[in-house]
Amino acid sequence: MKLKVSNTNAPQWRNMTVQTELPGSLKKLEELSKNLWWVWNSEGKSLFHDLDRDLWRATGENPVMLLQKMKSERFEEIVHDAELMKRIDTVYTHFRQYMSVPMRTDIPSVSYFSMEYGLCNALKIYSGGLGILAGDYIKEASDRCIDMTAVGFLYRYGYFTQTLSMDGQQIANYEPQNFNQLPIEPQLDENGHQMIVEVPYPGRIIYANVWRVNVGRMKLYLLDTDLDLNSEFDRPITHKLYGGDWENRIKQEYLLGIGGVIMLKKLGINHQVYHCNEGHAALLNLQRLVDYVQDGGLSFNEALEVVRASSLYTVHTPVPAGHDYFDEGLFHKYMNEFPAKLGIEWADLMNMGRENPDTADKFSMSVFALNTTQESNGVSWLHGEVSKKMFQGVWKGYAPEESHVGYVTNGVHMPTWAASEWKEFYAQTFGADYLDRQDDEATWAPIFDVPDEKIWELRMRLKRKFIDFVKRDFTANWLKNQGDPSRIMSIVDKINPNALLIGFARRFATYKRAYLLFNDLNRLEKIVNNDQFPVQFIYAGKAHPADGAGQDLIRRIIEVSKMPQFLGKIIFLENYDMIVSKRLLTGVDIWLNTPTRPLEASGTSGEKAEMNGLLNFSVRDGWWYEGYREGA
Ligand SMILES: *Cc1c(COP(=O)(O)O)cnc(C)c1O
Repeated sequence: MKLKVSNTNAPQWRNMTVQTELPGSLKKLEELSKNLWWVWNSEGKSLFHDLDRDLWRATGENPVMLLQKMKSERFEEIVHDAELMKRIDTVYTHFRQYMSVPMRTDIPSVSYFSMEYGLCNALKIYSGGLGILAGDYIKEASDRCIDMTAVGFLYRYGYFTQTLSMDGQQIANYEPQNFNQLPIEPQLDENGHQMIVEVPYPGRIIYANVWRVNVGRMKLYLLDTDLDLNSEFDRPITHKLYGGDWENRIKQEYLLGIGGVIMLKKLGINHQVYHCNEGHAALLNLQRLVDYVQDGGLSFNEALEVVRASSLYTVHTPVPAGHDYFDEGLFHKYMNEFPAKLGIEWADLMNMGRENPDTADKFSMSVFALNTTQESNGVSWLHGEVSKKMFQGVWKGYAPEESHVGYVTNGVHMPTWAASEWKEFYAQTFGADYLDRQDDEATWAPIFDVPDEKIWELRMRLKRKFIDFVKRDFTANWLKNQGDPSRIMSIVDKINPNALLIGFARRFATYKRAYLLFNDLNRLEKIVNNDQFPVQFIYAGKAHPADGAGQDLIRRIIEVSKMPQFLGKIIFLENYDMIVSKRLLTGVDIWLNTPTRPLEASGTSGEKAEMNGLLNFSVRDGWWYEGYREGA
């Protein structure tokens, strides 16, 4: 599909006027809106919510859009609301205190490269776990004052929003994002203009705007090629996340790796360690090699030693088919100038990306990453073992356990994913500084002194909140898209706070087996219609637009949910995103996960469930292989 190039990035002067008219103390709000610190600071988040609750929801929790769209009468009210004004001052003071802590200098500084980042709902530059992980890493690095810079893309169309037709067909909507309404800022050059990076592609320069996302103390720099300086053929490079054909894919990975390193140089950022989140970004090592050879005067082999010694690669995919491979012809079209820059032959470069050198193997980004980094890791212990075997062929003559593939089990950023109610409870129970001591088991010991009723009461409060959310946010949508108002109302009425709510929400990749529950419909019918112990299932998730089998699973679940015996017992929530995810993960009773082992490399949503007092019910795959304790 060819997307129309849009002008959504044109400035909106009306909004600018409102901003300059912001009363002095409300300028603080504007500063707060341009840093994602509020995402994991409950005080900041509830402040934006309370400025205008309906608008906050309507904007998808986007503080920049909130301030732009808020009526001047509401500003007037706020200015005259002494309590609210005091809250603004308090939150702002806490923000400034947080920001004033200097970075640590006793550990290496890091540049982190990733195709996607899941930071907050308003920034649609993520699709799933890999991106959420990258976002959580930046936030945690910020909290720990680790000197890190992140590099990624600002996608014009982001990842799609999902609606469902009457018969359960997924409809993917790509909505152009207006960059002026996002919590980002143009990165300015020394002349006060937005910085533009010039990336040499074969036969032409591709230009990319540089945008900055302030993530607490961290900065995430995003490249965007959707500008007039580029041809119609090149503008769409950063249009869609995981969209387009293989040629667009190599153009993207070229931009991320080569362009990303060029951008960091232009920004004057020279960190010690480079981290490659999945193979997509691995060409960053190629540009670093070029820099060491051309500017540093090193030989190719010396440069390779230096690059390896300062590079890490995280693999997320447990099956070879999930990795990126480029045909030699296509790869040559884009990379043919590099061997000369490095003083090597074309075959040498190709062989760096081949499991079997001197064959007709395609160029594998993962193999290239392995050959140019000293350390590589899977994302859980089990996935580390699987990865050692998967990559066995790269180091011929060595046993899998001898390879340098290790593991770092994925974690989640607790202050982002624990409900504010739980965070309050944790601070009371474990001490206000519990987050600084979260990796010390002793921190959590006082949980055994907490009466069960207290936990139950909290759980019920959040469950009711979740049910309210479903009724409020989904009823109108269902009425619009699904027809038959009486049936919809009966579904809504049937959501029962006293039923056991079981949640299942994730990307609809086939290995996650969303349909497993429905293999024996007769048995399921008895379970959900047991009057004494009622059970309800809530599903959510998107299938990649090119994944027909994944979309089929959604359709079949919708079909089941419409059968009379399952009406209101199996509920599908459209458009799984970070807001729906957090509501589900704080509001249901049991979090269900049914992957085919060992294909769930880590799967972090269960960790979010645990920190909100849910039971995690999963195949012992990914992180859960380590997390599960019998009788816990
Ligand atoms: C946490 C999260 C994920 C990743 O969790 P999985 O267990 O791998 O599915 C994906 N999408 C969203 C929106 C999330 O919040």
